[in-house]
Amino acid sequence: TKEFQGKKALVTGATSGIGRAIAVKLAEAGATVYATGRRAELGKETVELIERAGGTGHFVVADVANLDEVRRLAAEVGEVDVLVNNAGVFPSSPTPEQSRHAYEQIFDVNVRATYFLTAALVPAMVARKKGAIVNVSSMAGQIGTPESSVYNASKAALDSLTRSWAVEFGAAGVRVNSVAPGLIRTDMAVHMVGESFEAFSRSTPLARAGEPEEIAEAVAFLASDRAGYITGAVLLADGGYVAT
Ligand code: NAD
Repeated sequence: TKEFQGKKALVTGATSGIGRAIAVKLAEAGATVYATGRRAELGKETVELIERAGGTGHFVVADVANLDEVRRLAAEVGEVDVLVNNAGVFPSSPTPEQSRHAYEQIFDVNVRATYFLTAALVPAMVARKKGAIVNVSSMAGQIGTPESSVYNASKAALDSLTRSWAVEFGAAGVRVNSVAPGLIRTDMAVHMVGESFEAFSRSTPLARAGEPEEIAEAVAFLASDRAGYITGAVLLADGGYVAT
């Protein structure tokens, strides 16, 4: 039988890029996947990809920048075995020019949504004494960069939550880990990094950008029973970038 057979997973930001790849990977491995995001037509595409891969998927629309929507999402999906907090935004700006709106948007989506979605779904995991949570952070949480201080801080905050939650829920058998991607070939990254994307890719030790499927593989591992003794970990999947 498949590794995630009989398990239910919720993946945020599953209408594109890394989140979509995670949703498809977990569904291929047997999970019933609840994919969520803002745009129904893209969510429908994710469900189609899941079904084409022989899996079972559902799409639930939610804008996780809105806390009421986060809570409604949790209530609508109900108990899950696996929660992947992947939705994220990356507007960059030099610090003196950062708008309050952009600052709040980054923290609302990257941190607050993760915080309250987890808070809503973890009690059922604790009660059943099993569950796995994976936060998709970033190597950006471990390094400095010139124009994305808020994003970097939000990703460091996610890794901190991972460690605290691993401690808080460990006794109940709930594992919490981060996957910290490096430069991954998604629309978001190609758009944000722009012309220097290829040069940046070549500058990593593996001399290329990563693929969304390679991040999905790391997330699926940490969400699976194969990672049974791993909690509170931050798994870099960055082609060696932070090692340089
Ligand atoms: P992406 O833009 O394709 O995916 C981000 C997802 O989050 C999208 O599905 C988007 O719809 C969703 N999202 C954003 N705001 C939302 C909101 N208010 N409500 C609901 N959903 C919302 O980019 P991606 O590269 O696939 O990024 C996925 C995650 O990986 C993000 O957390 C990002 O920070 C992280 N990451 C990406 C890279 C990279 O190089 N691509 C590197 C490190 C970390």
